[in-house]
Amino acid sequence: MDFEFTKEQMMFRDMAKEFAEREIAPSARERDREERFFPEIMKKMADQGFFAIMVPQEMGGLGLDWMTMGLVAEQLATVDFSVGLTFFIQTSLEIMPMLLAGTEEQKKKYIPDLMMGKKIGCLAAVEPNAGSDATAVETTALLDGDQWILNGNKTWITNATVSDYCVVLVQTDKSKGTKGIATFIVEKGTLGYSSSKISHKLGCRSSDTGQLFFRDCRIPKSNILGAVGAGMKTALTCIEHTRFGISCLAAGVTQACIDASIRYAQERKQFGKSIGSFQLIQEQIAEMTVGYETSKLLSYRVAWMKDKGMSCTRETGIAKYNNMDVVMKATRAAIEIHGAYSLTDDFNIERFYRDMTGPLIFGGTSNVQRLVIGRFALGLDAFR
Ligand SMILES: Cc1cc2nc3c(=O)[nH]c(=O)nc-3n(C[C@H](O)[C@H](O)[C@H](O)COP(=O)(O)OP(=O)(O)OC[C@H]3O[C@@H](n4cnc5c(N)ncnc54)[C@H](O)[C@@H]3O)c2cc1C
Repeated sequence: MDFEFTKEQMMFRDMAKEFAEREIAPSARERDREERFFPEIMKKMADQGFFAIMVPQEMGGLGLDWMTMGLVAEQLATVDFSVGLTFFIQTSLEIMPMLLAGTEEQKKKYIPDLMMGKKIGCLAAVEPNAGSDATAVETTALLDGDQWILNGNKTWITNATVSDYCVVLVQTDKSKGTKGIATFIVEKGTLGYSSSKISHKLGCRSSDTGQLFFRDCRIPKSNILGAVGAGMKTALTCIEHTRFGISCLAAGVTQACIDASIRYAQERKQFGKSIGSFQLIQEQIAEMTVGYETSKLLSYRVAWMKDKGMSCTRETGIAKYNNMDVVMKATRAAIEIHGAYSLTDDFNIERFYRDMTGPLIFGGTSNVQRLVIGRFALGLDAFR
């Protein structure tokens, strides 16, 4: 493996670091308090070219790589996980489904607008009765002449109420199992399609999360994305990209916890010395530092493999599992090191702590990652 970054990768990493401090950090606390989404930051991220990273040059994009995506995600997450997440899924759950499964017409209709931040989308797989097991989707699509009729509910969907359209995973014929599953594009404003926001979440508060409702929602036959039977593969591929993104975002939050804890431990004095001089505090910071290094290496390995076109489901599962474990421990250690002051939002620590509960669940829970890793180790599939 070669992790020597290209000039472009370093340029994007540095640009993202500077952008995060200048454009995201100043309003992060207020957006979290107000649970407010950030169209103005989306526009600015588009202007930086962040949404064009994975779009092929022939489509007007930058044609770069997953390593660049990972480095940008890591930097954005050091100040605001919600913005970092929204940055990443604009590619992994919005541009990627179109690139993977879209017709030329669909690609032309959606990708340029997503890339320029003029459109926001979402990918809706999960339902009230289908969480970790997305194959159990109950939302149906029935073909009626030249229209599909959709009925069902989706829940816990990122960008649900701010998106211009959704890509929704549905069952077209239950008797066919996963071979009946398909993805469809449903435009905002379509009769029978509505959304509602999930408010007062523990974390990721400025990231929009909500429910989607389909009630005899008629869409043109041509709004199918890919073929019937290919929907599950499209969704799982895009969720795996997101899983990689989460591992990079988690590494960024771990880095932020280390930086804040070092600063605080050097300044705060107890028993006549800076608390950073106590061995137990040094141990906590050393553990966070080791955790951060493993997180970075595991996520860079995934990026490297993805950019080589290698299959990396196992490695992505390992990175997501490890990096979430590391960041959960790091946010807790940062809380302890900051003492009572960690409970106020004057420091970002309590937000980092709360925000990490979301990615612990989405992109596949830690148990799901354990079962993915176990499947590769044992050759036995716990899911089927
Ligand atoms: C903030 C947020 C944003 C989200 N964004 C999106 C989105 O954009 N699109 C989307 O489709 N979904 C999204 N989700 C949904 C997310 O993907 C699901 O919450 C996740 O897949 C888990 O499903 P569940 O919550 O129903 O938990 P369940 O699947 O009900 O799991 C509950 C518990 O049981 C465990 N469990 C389940 N099955 C097994 C098993 N076989 N073995 C051992 N343990 C098991 C789980 O690990 C978990 O601990 C989001 C969720 C959150 C919180």
